[in-house]
Amino acid sequence: MAKKIEMTNGNLVVPDEPIVCLLHGDGTGPEIVASAVGVLEAAVAKSYDNQRRIHWLKLLAGQAAAETGDDLLPEKTLQAIREHIVALKGPMTTPVGAGYRSVNVAMRQKLDLYACIRPVKHYRGVPSPVSHPEKLDVVIFRENTEDVYSGIEFEAKSKEACRVLDTLKQLGANLPRDSAVGIKPVSKVACERLVARAVRYAIATGRKRITLVHKGNIMKYTEGAFRTWGYAVAREILGDNMVTVDQVGPDRFPPQGKILVQDKIADAMFQDLLLRPQWHEIIATTNLNGDYISDAAAAQVGGLGLAPGANIGDNAAVFEATHGSAPHYAGQDKVNPTSVILSGVMMLDHMGWTKAARVVEKALEATIAKGIVTYDLARQMENATKVSCSGFGQALQKTIQEV
Ligand code: NAD
Repeated sequence: MAKKIEMTNGNLVVPDEPIVCLLHGDGTGPEIVASAVGVLEAAVAKSYDNQRRIHWLKLLAGQAAAETGDDLLPEKTLQAIREHIVALKGPMTTPVGAGYRSVNVAMRQKLDLYACIRPVKHYRGVPSPVSHPEKLDVVIFRENTEDVYSGIEFEAKSKEACRVLDTLKQLGANLPRDSAVGIKPVSKVACERLVARAVRYAIATGRKRITLVHKGNIMKYTEGAFRTWGYAVAREILGDNMVTVDQVGPDRFPPQGKILVQDKIADAMFQDLLLRPQWHEIIATTNLNGDYISDAAAAQVGGLGLAPGANIGDNAAVFEATHGSAPHYAGQDKVNPTSVILSGVMMLDHMGWTKAARVVEKALEATIAKGIVTYDLARQMENATKVSCSGFGQALQKTIQEV
C-alpha cells in the first residue's frame, strides 16, 4: 500500500511502497522523465523481487501548470513536496519576463534546498575529451540559496542603483554613476550548513578529501569568509580526525581514519580538474563557483546529458538533471535521458535503496559498453548504435533483467 516517506530525527523513514513526487518539466522534460521512470521502476522491481514499488505523485509546475491557468510554481505543488519529502523533476524552461527569474531557482529557494549536489564520475565507454576521464570522481556541493542566486541586482541608472551608489560613496567606494549593481551576500549560516553537509557526506560515504573552493584572495569578506567558516565547521565536526595539507604527503592522501580538508582558489581548481583530478573527492563551494565548476567537470566525463544533480535541504530533496529543457528537441524523442536516470540513482541512494541504485548504474555501463547510445554520444563514438530517448530507456530496462 502506498505510504508517505517520513523524517525522524533528520533521517528518512522509507516504506516499501513510498509516494514520490514527480514533475515532468518542460521541453524535452516529459520524454526524459518518462524514460527514467521506466528504468527506475524496473531496477526497483528486480532488486527487491517486486516487494518494493514507487508510487509516483504527479505534480504540476512550469508551463504545464501555466497551461491549466495556475501559477508557474503553484503553492499546492510546493506543499506536496514538503509533505512527501522526495521528488524527481524534469528541467523547466525559464519564462522570459513572466515574474520568475527561474522556476527552478524559485523552487530551491522556497523549499530551502540549500545544497546543490552534483556527483561527477566517468562511466566506462562514454566518450570524453580527456585521456583519463576515470581519474575524476568528485561530488560537488554548491551553495544553492545566496551569492548570485539571491538575485539582488539593480539596473544601471535606475533609482535603486543610484541610491546604492550614493551609499557606497559615503562608505568610500566611488563608482561610475552608470554602474549596474549586483549584491553578493554570503552568510555564515549558509556556508556552515553547506560545508557541514559535505563533511557528513564524506564521513557516510568514506570519501577522504574535501576541498573548499573560493575566490578569497580577491573577495576576502565573502569568498574568504566561506573558506574560514568552512574550515571551522569541518574542524567542529571532525575534531582530531581532520587533517590539513601540511599533515599529508605529496599524494595528498590522509592517514587511516582521517579526512583531509584543503582549500583551492577557484581558478586553480579548474586547472586541478584537468591536471590533478585525483586530489579531489568532494568539493564544497559558493554558488557561482559551483555553477561553473559543475559544468566544466561534467564536460570532462561526457557532457551535460549525463550529469545528475540533487537539491537537498533539511526537510526535502528534489532530484533533477543538471541540463535544461533543451526546447529545440522537444517532441523528437531524441535527447539523452541519462542525466535524469542518474538523478534517479541519487534519489534511490538518498532513500537507502542502494541495491536498486547500483543495478541502474551497472545496466547503464553495460548498455553504453554495447555501443547503444543516444545521438549526443553516438556522434562521438565509432560503430555506435544510435537509439531514441525512449529506445535508450528500453535498452536499459532489458539490460537490467540481465545484470
Ligand atoms: P539546455 O541544457 O537545455 O541545452 C543546451 C544544449 O545542451 C542543447 O542544445 C543540447 O544540445 C544539449 N543538451 C541538453 N540536454 C541534453 C540531453 N538530455 N541530451 C543531449 N543533449 C542535451 O540549456 P539552454 O538551452 O540554455 O536552456 C533551455 C531552457 O532550460 C532555458 O529556459 C533554461 O533557463 C532552462 N534551464 C533549466 C534548468 C533546470 O530545470 N534545472 C537548468 C538549466 C537551464
